[in-house]
Amino acid sequence: MTSAPAFRWSLRRELSRVLVLAALVPVLVFSVALLWNEWRRDRDELMVRLAVGAQGSQSTFDDFLEAHQSSLRLLAGNLESPRSPTAGRDLSRLLQAYPAFVRAVVTDERGMIILSRRLREEAGSEEQGAAGSEAEDPDVGWFPVEGGATPPAPYRASLHGDQALITLAAPMIRGGQDRGAIRGWMPVERLVRQRVDNLRQRGLELLLIDGDGRAVHATPGLRWSYLEAVGPLGTVIRDAAVPSGRFAAKGRSLRGLLRDGDEGYVNAVRMRNGWVVAVVAPEQRLRASVLPRLGFLLGLVVVTSLGVSFALWRMRQLLFSSMGNLLASLHGYALGGMLDPRQLARMPEELQPLAEGIGDLAARMNTAFLDLRLVLEEREHVIAERTESLRQAVSDLDRLSRTDALTGSLNYRGFLEVADTLWQKARDTDRPLSVLALDIDHFKRYNDHYGHAEGDGALRRFAGAVRSALLHADDVLARPGGEEFIVFLPGSTQEQAMRVGQRVCERVRGADIVHAASSEGRMTVSIGVASVLPGDEDAEQMLRRADAALYRAKAAGRNRVSD
Ligand code: GH3
Ligand code: MG
Ligand code: MG
Repeated sequence: MTSAPAFRWSLRRELSRVLVLAALVPVLVFSVALLWNEWRRDRDELMVRLAVGAQGSQSTFDDFLEAHQSSLRLLAGNLESPRSPTAGRDLSRLLQAYPAFVRAVVTDERGMIILSRRLREEAGSEEQGAAGSEAEDPDVGWFPVEGGATPPAPYRASLHGDQALITLAAPMIRGGQDRGAIRGWMPVERLVRQRVDNLRQRGLELLLIDGDGRAVHATPGLRWSYLEAVGPLGTVIRDAAVPSGRFAAKGRSLRGLLRDGDEGYVNAVRMRNGWVVAVVAPEQRLRASVLPRLGFLLGLVVVTSLGVSFALWRMRQLLFSSMGNLLASLHGYALGGMLDPRQLARMPEELQPLAEGIGDLAARMNTAFLDLRLVLEEREHVIAERTESLRQAVSDLDRLSRTDALTGSLNYRGFLEVADTLWQKARDTDRPLSVLALDIDHFKRYNDHYGHAEGDGALRRFAGAVRSALLHADDVLARPGGEEFIVFLPGSTQEQAMRVGQRVCERVRGADIVHAASSEGRMTVSIGVASVLPGDEDAEQMLRRADAALYRAKAAGRNRVSD
């Protein structure tokens, strides 16, 4: 089974997440919303411009055509007949008054041109044409007369050579009969020139569609040439066209209108003569206006990202240096010491509580450390005291284990140890050692006479008397058992020991311990003396000699010293 990896919390990662969410995401959302809003506003503006352009063009064209049509109708109404003698003069006046016409003709009831006037464009004056027959006017044949004898259509667009012309006509009705017509031709250019310049300055294209679905005029950005059938797109545009006088600030987006294949927005208005004026804006224009803003917003996002990155980098640097200071301060800290306040002061305001917390912790550790040291010292003192008293107790016990409780002299164990020690010492220092073997005379009788308890008391007084006779600090009194005592006299010769023995006898007698059962009437002692230079014999032999001497003292009558 694999355990899940431990979660490692990183301030930097968390901060990055927050900054991205708090800065980048809002900037992105705001940018997109702004861009969308701008795009919509631009599109709405463009739609208004399209509608204004289409509406303006429609009214301009309608007014222009209507004015020229009216002039033809007026002339047709004024002439008595197509062959009126004033017809030539009237045509000339018409051409001068309406210079958009490049030619005006009078036709008879069969559609035959009987009079023609043409405007010489370069001179701005009309040119006299031959009257009476087509054959007499060499240019007459240049102009088709459509419709023949039937009442002419008021507006008709036609192509002659590389020039598109609009034919305007007004019938001459006399007595209810069609007697002929006045016809005038104007190049499409003259109709649209002013509007086209105006529209193209604003980046818009113009398409003028006649009643037969042909392009009467299409600006160079559009894909049609003069009088080319617009096709299904024309139907779509016609269907979408609003009637003249109605303003609709909307445009359809259509593909296939523009020569470069780009999509275009189109707003179309129906003219009074049934034609349709369409104004087209390439969609690229819209994109072109949005692109700089898109660039600006992208720049904003980039700058914000850089700002966020810099903020993160700086934050990380500050955090690491602050933590470094804190760590340096902690590393330099020793129990009982101080945290370096300069390092702590370098912490940023936000991390000061942490530094203070650590400082507080260090202070408390110091206090606890000092308290602990006091407790330890106290404990050490107590332990030392107890060790000393134990040592004393052990020493006392040791001493007691070697001491005879009744007389205070060494007991048997102490006697053995001291005998050995003194023997060794005498041998090492090469000095004499003497020993006195003491035995109270007739002590059995004492006991029998006074009782055992009194005997003990007598033993205690006896020991005191002996001790008073020992003048050297090194002299040792032992009671190996019963009423027998041993005195060691380190450094004493035989003679000196004999004198000490005499003194002991005297002191015991002098103690005057009443002993009614003894012939002396007081307690006496017999003493055997043995003295030896170490190396001659061992301690045991020396003690045996002292015993033998004691025996001799007893045998010689007691209360004496023998060697
Ligand atoms: P002597 O040595 O003069 O020949 O005669 P003695 O009566 O002293 O004979 P011995 O030394 O043999 O007797 C020792 C007596 O000492 C026997 C015992 O009653 C007595 N005695 C031994 N130890 C103690 C003691 O601790 N307390 C008392 N009260 N009496 C003791
Ligand atoms: Mg005895
Ligand atoms: Mg005795």
